[in-house]
Amino acid sequence: MGQVVVISTGGTIASRWQGAGFAAEAGGADVLATAAVPEGVTVRVVDLMSVNSARLTTAHQLTLLRTVREVLADPGVDGIVVTHGTDTLEESAFLLDLHHDDPRPVVFTGAQRPLEDPDGDGPRNLHDALLTAASVRDLGVLIVFDGQVHAARGTVKVQTLAANAFADPSGSRVADVGADGVLVHRRPERPAPLPLPSADGPLPRIDVVMHHCDADTLFLDTAVRAGAQGIVLVATGAGNATPEISAAVEAAAARGVLVAVTTRVSTGPVAEIYTHGGAVDLAAAGAVLTGTLRGGQARIAVLAAALASTDPAERVRTLRHVLGTPPVAAAQV
Ligand code: ASP
Repeated sequence: MGQVVVISTGGTIASRWQGAGFAAEAGGADVLATAAVPEGVTVRVVDLMSVNSARLTTAHQLTLLRTVREVLADPGVDGIVVTHGTDTLEESAFLLDLHHDDPRPVVFTGAQRPLEDPDGDGPRNLHDALLTAASVRDLGVLIVFDGQVHAARGTVKVQTLAANAFADPSGSRVADVGADGVLVHRRPERPAPLPLPSADGPLPRIDVVMHHCDADTLFLDTAVRAGAQGIVLVATGAGNATPEISAAVEAAAARGVLVAVTTRVSTGPVAEIYTHGGAVDLAAAGAVLTGTLRGGQARIAVLAAALASTDPAERVRTLRHVLGTPPVAAAQV
């Protein structure tokens, strides 16, 4: 049926008891040994790292991106499975999706229960991911979990413990995996992929600041002072904050900081509806609204734009491109 390469990065699917809590420890061969390999599929393992995903850095994620490119340089490979911690899986998957320029799939999976748990979900998830990686084409980067196949874009971790850990709260899943194989329901919309980021130079700092009652501009201003090249404001409601925060956004944008606005709400897009510090003012101050992307993926979109160029106006254009929003007049960027 096909050759699949499993890139192992750690997470609960590779976790063992450490005497005080679980942590990623096992390599890819041990993880693979827990799963039934679908008939006709051959598997090669690449042991990239074994870390809890909350510890991942941009450098780790770019290493993963480059490893995927290297693996796909072999025309004999039909697809890739990345085993990954669930905590930040949506971030790595989306970064790879924004740069993925190959019809062959990259399928992320993991587990909510550790490696040697007798009721673990890892073996089924890995089997389903292998089957998906060997079966589908032109769907971009996918997340396979609990019998469901999700597009990387828009999908977030929605359960801290339960097996149905992932969903796109503002969209629908791409496919299901069952006894009859992979049943595809829709093709995700994906903008033209970005070129592979340069391997040289320092990596940009991109911060996330959440708005809440009584919030002032301290953390936003501190991010700018810390050298952030991008800031994601996790606003309230449809993308609202205060007049003071809007002024701080304007000052940050004037210094060339790429500011994006998402929301604390789980479902639906941010939208320009309110003034007095709302999304109308934040957009006028130079912030880019991130549609239905939530904080982690909005940050990845800003990171990708910052990696693509050092020019502030070009970064805004790239961010709008990856968000799928139309470009605005030159005077506004
Ligand atoms: N802490 C784990 C991680 O590496 C959680 C998981 O994999 O489910 O993200």
